[in-house]
Amino acid sequence: MLTRRLFMGTAGAGLLLSGSLARAAVKTNPFTLGVASGAPRPDSVILWTRLAPDPLQGGGMPLGDVTVSYRVWEDAERRKLLREGTVTAPQADAHSVHLKLEGLRPGREYWYAFTVGDFESPLGRTRTSSPSSNKVRLALASCQSWQSGFYAAYTDMASWTPDCVIHVGDYIYEGGIGTLGNRSVEKPGETLIFRTVRQHNSAEITTLWDYRNRYALYKTDPALQAAHAAAPWLVTMDDHEVDNNWAANVPQDPWAQTPLEFKVRKLAAFKAWYEHMPVERPPQIDGIEASLDMTGIFRFGAAQVHLLDTRQFRDDQVCGNGFPGQTPCDSLADPKRSVLGAAQEQWLAQSLRSSPARYNVLASQMWLSPYRFNDAPAEPAVNMDAWDGYPAARQRMIDLLGDGISNPVALSGDWHCAAAMTLHASPFDAKSKPVAHEFAGTSISSDCGWMHEMDKMRSANPHVQHLNTRQRGYCRFEVSDKSWLTTYRVVNNSYDPNSSVTTDTEVKLGDL
Ligand code: FE
Ligand code: CA
Repeated sequence: MLTRRLFMGTAGAGLLLSGSLARAAVKTNPFTLGVASGAPRPDSVILWTRLAPDPLQGGGMPLGDVTVSYRVWEDAERRKLLREGTVTAPQADAHSVHLKLEGLRPGREYWYAFTVGDFESPLGRTRTSSPSSNKVRLALASCQSWQSGFYAAYTDMASWTPDCVIHVGDYIYEGGIGTLGNRSVEKPGETLIFRTVRQHNSAEITTLWDYRNRYALYKTDPALQAAHAAAPWLVTMDDHEVDNNWAANVPQDPWAQTPLEFKVRKLAAFKAWYEHMPVERPPQIDGIEASLDMTGIFRFGAAQVHLLDTRQFRDDQVCGNGFPGQTPCDSLADPKRSVLGAAQEQWLAQSLRSSPARYNVLASQMWLSPYRFNDAPAEPAVNMDAWDGYPAARQRMIDLLGDGISNPVALSGDWHCAAAMTLHASPFDAKSKPVAHEFAGTSISSDCGWMHEMDKMRSANPHVQHLNTRQRGYCRFEVSDKSWLTTYRVVNNSYDPNSSVTTDTEVKLGDL
């Protein structure tokens, strides 16, 4: 009895001690990574932060879970307090917070902040979605290589305060430390100059420790923090959140990492992605098998957004690594090859067929529209990592979209070029029936090393209405019951964090 009481007493004291230690040890600001919100529903939104007083060295938090206080206001001046409470930042999730705020009203703005001890986070603004909004403002972002440029695009995006930001991947890049300064690349008749403006914090990332520190590095950027604090985000990862051009369980370089090593790496990447994103669902982890559900359906006024996953379930790329265009081979046409996987294909078809929305948006990583790097009538040489590398799967998608789906609009990233395109029933025949529109955002900061080849082959791709391979930026969409307006915003000097950002072009959508 005595022994047991002693034991319990000790355990209790131990718990108290770890709690007071946790408080005592947070002596410097833990809110170095800002705040974020995401997954906006008519009645809920996810609020996010991560406690990391030493962000590039694992976070620097003491052992143990930490209680974080939050407050939510109905006004930016913090006069009308709506709610306050506490939420746990689990040590197992790198002291990140994912708070699902429920019972909200549709189409409304809210402001929020977290506190730990004497420290208060920056103030965040978020907004619930609403199916009945009659004017919706969405932004599209992708590809934010830390080393290749600064994030002036995000400063501009934050000042626009969209209803929601859709990020379609390459939030981080997994590569090692580049060499600062300019490098030139010779192309026929043109010298391209690229610059490394700032450096990664480690060699190529492979472990949970590495991925956490890499996310933290990116999230220390003030412009990225401002864009997260300005609006809720929808996020779906592409390849560089794990490994360049990975497909399901196949890495870019299967000769350099065993299947077991790649699985462990993917688990680390998925876990760290969740810890840093304002998303609804953590990865499912079973032994060393990890999977993520990044898909979702979100309704913003006349637009129903389908957030897709084009990485986790795809078949491996075929035919070789010719870049940017690879000539086709026999296995390209294999009807069994898939991008979305059977379950996601079925889910999407069902949702599109029953959608009451005027605009049906497919937000995903890679270009749905074709782009050929040779002249007809030869078989098109294409980027095998995009939908071009999966022609049978794309044709299934085209047949679905062309079968009475109201105004399909694809939003994509990955390719670091801005493009407005029409997807035709027969993709390489611009005279065939138009089926969907596509707006490819350029990159926030990543280089477009293949801009010379893209520009050179423009005339072989008559379905492309607008193409800008030379500037970084993002897209704005203003959607009402009657109209869709896309504005391409471009960064005038992506090597300057304070660069001006201006409108390159506007595209108004007609009915198909
Ligand atoms: Fe990219
Ligand atoms: Ca990519």
